[in-house]
Amino acid sequence: MKIVTVIGARPQFIKAAAVSREINKYSDIEEIIVHTGQHFDSNMSDIFFKELHIPKPDYNLDINGLSHGAMTGQMLEKIEEVLQKEKPDWTLVYGDTNSTIAGALSASKLHIKTAHVEAGLRSFNMKMPEEINRILTDRISNLLFCPTDQAVENLKNEGFENFDFAKVIKSGDVMQDAAMFYENLAKEPEGIKNKKNFILSTIHRAENTDDPKRITEIFKTLNEIAKETPIILPLHPRTKKILKNLNIDTSNIEIIDPVGYLQMVWLLKNASLVMTDSGGLQKEAFFFKKPCITLRDETEWVELVENGFNKIVGANGEKIKEAYKEMKNKKLDFSKDLYGGGEASKKIVKELRGAL
Ligand code: UDP
Repeated sequence: MKIVTVIGARPQFIKAAAVSREINKYSDIEEIIVHTGQHFDSNMSDIFFKELHIPKPDYNLDINGLSHGAMTGQMLEKIEEVLQKEKPDWTLVYGDTNSTIAGALSASKLHIKTAHVEAGLRSFNMKMPEEINRILTDRISNLLFCPTDQAVENLKNEGFENFDFAKVIKSGDVMQDAAMFYENLAKEPEGIKNKKNFILSTIHRAENTDDPKRITEIFKTLNEIAKETPIILPLHPRTKKILKNLNIDTSNIEIIDPVGYLQMVWLLKNASLVMTDSGGLQKEAFFFKKPCITLRDETEWVELVENGFNKIVGANGEKIKEAYKEMKNKKLDFSKDLYGGGEASKKIVKELRGAL
């Protein structure tokens, strides 16, 4: 059986690392990896392949730094060429980036079956490029691997039970597989000043970075909180550019370059609280038993909010500070199984093997 895996962005490398490890247990599966190039810097791409032992990509499409339309268009053209040459049984795509929709669309037009890992998530915010990518990818996928009950429910509400070409499976979340596997390999990032009782923060979503009011308010508030509790913030290149252009004061925050996943796991293990607009980090806070404050207006991971592990505060300074006071000392019971307990990759590969 032949699988073409299409990945291109940081969270996809981590998810693919978990599934590829499982695929590699079977000598009858050949996995061809296509790296679209969406993320290409050494600390946003190479470090993940190296440290997580992801097989070297068979194809590097080197498509980056373009507008959404141009990027997706070029990916479609190049992925189509790869699929026509490789003729796989399955195309495997992850998450919600332009690489995801480009992989799924190229495959479906060639009548090659598509499996979508992390299917069914919805923020119900159509202004997010990620939401558009998710909805369209799900609609043309044949195997939809849902990380949560809510994701299964979302697809039901969109009528997926009536689509005879689509099979919806609750697999659990491959991010939990990764967190559990790499937990013991955590690496302290070089040269950090704060080693304990710090807040771990990341900010990179377009809805925050592309709105000068929101980004200014968020960083003003973080800079204030950092006077009381240290904040370590691995800075996404998109945010770095915007902070510089807007001349935003971050002097109290310990800003570091983006880190590899093993360093991120170390930061998660040693932090006392997480403040983020990342999707993945909200769950990782839970996996590493840390309360989380989400600097967005909504989340796809509603089960974390319903169970009190996560608080949604948007970009409102007062709300952020209130949530910080509430969450920093909150005692929570993290024993609940919300994401499948680290068995997702196994279920996904078993299903792919059985589906032929
Ligand atoms: N991550 C990382 N290094 C960083 C920032 C994030 O390894 O400097 C990891 C993080 O732990 C998570 C994934 O990248 O597993 C999430 O990526 P991101 O926040 O870019 O995307 P999202 O999850 O919001 O789609």
